[in-house]
Amino acid sequence: MLRFFFRLRLDLGTMSTQKPRILTGDTPTGQLHLGHWVGSLENRVALQDEYECFFLIANMHAFTTRADKPEEIRRSTIDIVKDWIACGMDPERSTFVLQTEIPGIAELTWYLAMLLPFNRVMRNPTLKTELETKGLGDNYSFGFPMYTVGQCADILLFRPELVPVGEDQLAHIEPCREVARRFNQMYCGVNPHTEDEDYVKEGGLFPIPAGKVGRVARLVGTDGVNKMSKSLNNTILLTDTFKKIKKKMGGLYTGRTAMDEPGDIKNALFDYVRAFISDEDRVKALEEAYSKGDNIGDGHIKVEIAEHIDKLLEPMRERRLPFEGEAGDAKILEILREHTKRANNAAEETLYLAKEAMQLDFGKRNLSFD
Ligand code: ATP
Ligand code: MG
Repeated sequence: MLRFFFRLRLDLGTMSTQKPRILTGDTPTGQLHLGHWVGSLENRVALQDEYECFFLIANMHAFTTRADKPEEIRRSTIDIVKDWIACGMDPERSTFVLQTEIPGIAELTWYLAMLLPFNRVMRNPTLKTELETKGLGDNYSFGFPMYTVGQCADILLFRPELVPVGEDQLAHIEPCREVARRFNQMYCGVNPHTEDEDYVKEGGLFPIPAGKVGRVARLVGTDGVNKMSKSLNNTILLTDTFKKIKKKMGGLYTGRTAMDEPGDIKNALFDYVRAFISDEDRVKALEEAYSKGDNIGDGHIKVEIAEHIDKLLEPMRERRLPFEGEAGDAKILEILREHTKRANNAAEETLYLAKEAMQLDFGKRNLSFD
């Protein structure tokens, strides 16, 4: 495994000791929340030195469910980048990829769509769950299932080896791994019996990317039932004040009615205890007291959790300060413009190699962006 992550990468015929890459990202359909932090953001921040990181803002995919709300998508695009910087995702070390300004993504989506069976896309369990939780029923756009293919292109265009995501997204990475194997076999002549980690060594263009689930695979929302999710109104946002956090935690349903009643430490309250109280002895003490019905109230524990969450968010508030208001928006747009150039360099390089493998190399093009 280690050999896989740290091996030398052979690029464009020149030997270079390049760091392995990460690609992951968020859809701008709202602001980021604690589920994102434990599920993916925390890993992104931690892996920035070890990996060359590309962080995607999937603003094109936001249109799959919100085509009628371009203003909200734009607002959310800027807010999410503010959230990223607040978390410690560093624009100096990592590249922010604005999906709509990377034409290679849409192009590669088409080529990959030819390699994925229609029924395979429609059977994707993540797609089915999203249709249900977002209440889309049968009334969804053609673009909605297309986004499964689009996500393969988002990832593969940057040839990453690792994709840090929450558990709900793992099923989305599977078609990406499948299509990468198929492309490598069909157009680069890689033997189908090749082990996933050997595809590039055997002449394939795309590494077969692995998902990496965060410390908490699926953080439950403040409704105590569903996954914490931007579209479900059950979130604690990274921008929330202590007062708001306390209020939202206060509303968390635990099912317990009295302090001397033994509580179930598998409930949502204890998911939060384990996710946000880092002192293991304190977690154990709370678990023991609660399961015995040892006169410890839900309200008391909720305040304690809220304090820990507030402590986690405090440095984020500080890093966010220089990006407040309209002047902050302008700074974010400037960063996105700068990074679009960098991202397109990497994307165009892969796209050219993919087209070359498909015998579509009719000449090189240069993208310019102002
Ligand atoms: P939406 O409701 O629009 O789908 P979302 O809140 O599910 O939004 P996404 O943009 O779909 O957020 O997810 C971004 C990343 O964060 C993904 O890797 C996803 O798996 C992860 N993630 C989102 N919510 C959670 C959660 N509650 N627990 C763990 N990981 C999560
Ligand atoms: Mg989601």
